[in-house]
Amino acid sequence: MTVSASIPTAKSRVLIAGATGFIGQFVAKASLDAGRPTYALVRPGLAGCPSKSRVLKSLHDKGAIILHGLITDRENMEKILKDHEIDIVISAVGGGNVLDQVALVEAIRAVGTVKRFLPSEFGHDVVRADPVEPGLQMYEDKRVIRRLIEEYRIPYNYICCNSIASWPYYDNKHPADVLPPLDHFKIYGDGTVKAYFVAGTDIGKFTMKIVDDVRAINKSVHFRPSSNFYNMNELASLWEKKIGRTLPRVTVTEEDLLAIAAENNIPESIVASFTHDIFIKGCQSSFSINGPDDVEVGTLYPDEAFRTLDECFDDFALELKDNNKDLGSNGNAAPNHVVESLALSAPCA
Ligand code: NDP
Repeated sequence: MTVSASIPTAKSRVLIAGATGFIGQFVAKASLDAGRPTYALVRPGLAGCPSKSRVLKSLHDKGAIILHGLITDRENMEKILKDHEIDIVISAVGGGNVLDQVALVEAIRAVGTVKRFLPSEFGHDVVRADPVEPGLQMYEDKRVIRRLIEEYRIPYNYICCNSIASWPYYDNKHPADVLPPLDHFKIYGDGTVKAYFVAGTDIGKFTMKIVDDVRAINKSVHFRPSSNFYNMNELASLWEKKIGRTLPRVTVTEEDLLAIAAENNIPESIVASFTHDIFIKGCQSSFSINGPDDVEVGTLYPDEAFRTLDECFDDFALELKDNNKDLGSNGNAAPNHVVESLALSAPCA
């Protein structure tokens, strides 16, 4: 029997900072789908950005209450938290803005009524993973925020959801926004190091389950779906199955990745340093998660399936067809470099 440890919080009010961002959108949609009163905090001035305005409109149409503000404005954040009686705060600000959360944490502490805070993590366990620079700096910033939360005894979760379900391009911080390769695969090292790939919709769905689950309070929540544990060689074969043909494989060595990281081009070098950590060092599975401060999300919700990577790659294949790419009489996609930069609607990001 599965014991439900969620307290009845249909009315928990959720504030999401960064709701128009890549990860924030998944979380905001899942919050709305779960029927929670959802407040999306957005920075002023989105009118100039059509894609963000579209996201905002769709959140609004689904019932989100849009609030304008900056998380660095502590006074305003306190007012927002009080005025709207916010129970749960989720931050999905980007990697370059992690330290902006200091003022938000201060506001949460001052108000004293927030029942759970999820800072912007949504990747690796930053106290265990140890990427080279410049990725390391982002982890150090995230560690600063963790220490502050714990010092102030704010109830928290750290979402360690690992990689997004997509082809893990070493130079793209949102690889799920583009199709897997159609001309050749770049394989990191010997391609045998495994990683966990999670659909963006599942990151949102499980995050919103955790936020008021008493079993998860003050824990790092790890996403390790066994169905989605793939190495680069397996990932390439999976995509080849979808497009019906094989592609040449080019090796990107450990030294290549370190050299790209050392160039310090932001954000590409940050992504290269994480790629090195994942596919050369194996940072996602090099530690066990049996400690008292850890929980694996699948053990909390054993009856809830994850979308499989196979299904996610089906979505990419469908997107390829929908984009009227030349699939040829045998259903095979023609090599096309341009399509690699083709933005998708991120069906399964
Ligand atoms: P994005 O850059 O896509 O979005 C960040 C959002 O935060 C934007 O909406 C931005 O607003 C908002 N924001 C930034 N600063 C402030 C501020 N001071 N006040 C209010 N809002 C602010 O971020 P990502 O989705 O890429 O990153 C979110 C988290 O997810 C990060 O911790 C990142 O490391 C992680 N991540 C994990 C991935 C994975 O594969 N596991 C992939 C990508 C990210 P505006 O629109 O105005 O700029």
